[in-house]
Amino acid sequence: MKLKGTNKNPKRIGLMGGTFNPIHIGHLVTAEEAFFQFNLDEIIFVPSGKPPHKTDRDIASAEDRYLMAVIATASNPHFTVSRIEIDRVGPSYTVDTLREMKRIYGVDTELFFITGADAIIEILTWKDPEIIADLCQFIAATRPGYSLRKFEELHLVGNRKLPKVHFMEIPALAISSTDIRLRVKEGRPVKYLVPEGVDQYLKKRGLYKEHE
Ligand code: NAP
Repeated sequence: MKLKGTNKNPKRIGLMGGTFNPIHIGHLVTAEEAFFQFNLDEIIFVPSGKPPHKTDRDIASAEDRYLMAVIATASNPHFTVSRIEIDRVGPSYTVDTLREMKRIYGVDTELFFITGADAIIEILTWKDPEIIADLCQFIAATRPGYSLRKFEELHLVGNRKLPKVHFMEIPALAISSTDIRLRVKEGRPVKYLVPEGVDQYLKKRGLYKEHE
């Protein structure tokens, strides 16, 4: 097992990328499991400002999603939340975030971009996938029973350089942001699916209700 960041060993940072619309317990379990399994020094949640691939009207403001991420992660000493994509003007391209993180934390820092496997499968449609491959490794969170066939097929697409992807099965990802938004819309409870503070914030701001 590699040692955590010391003078001799580069720092290992997990970047938890997602829209977090809203953040839920499945995301928190994913981040904690990656911290443990990959011997990371810290996890930085990076809520997308303007997701490049989404025009969904059902998306809460970047500021609301950022604040819910802060509330959800506040009690964990190795979790923080970055405003890097929230404050960026224009689409939230991952390649720009990775470059900025290398600039802030040093070129030797090892970056692990953690996100859902369904998002990573689209990597060839992202901006500059070959550059991304040089900047980070991916940790793909999957629900139990997720088929890796699509990832095997990805390697058959020409001879393009692809990022290294590690898979991590997370049973708690049976929880999804889509289901939470639907539950709120229908007046059903989300207690215990999101942290208590996030439940309160959703109510206070009236997010995802029918009139939104
Ligand atoms: P998405 O398509 O909304 O999500 C795909 C699946 O992954 C959903 O089931 C989602 O569940 C899950 N998921 C998303 N983030 C997760 C996380 N951190 N941990 C565990 N599961 C997660 O994906 P997205 O949130 O919009 O995008 C994911 C990341 O990829 C973001 O950081 C985004 O900026 C990046 N991305 C970059 C580009 C680009 O650079 N061009 C293009 C696409 C995506 P929930 O809905 O429950 O979260």
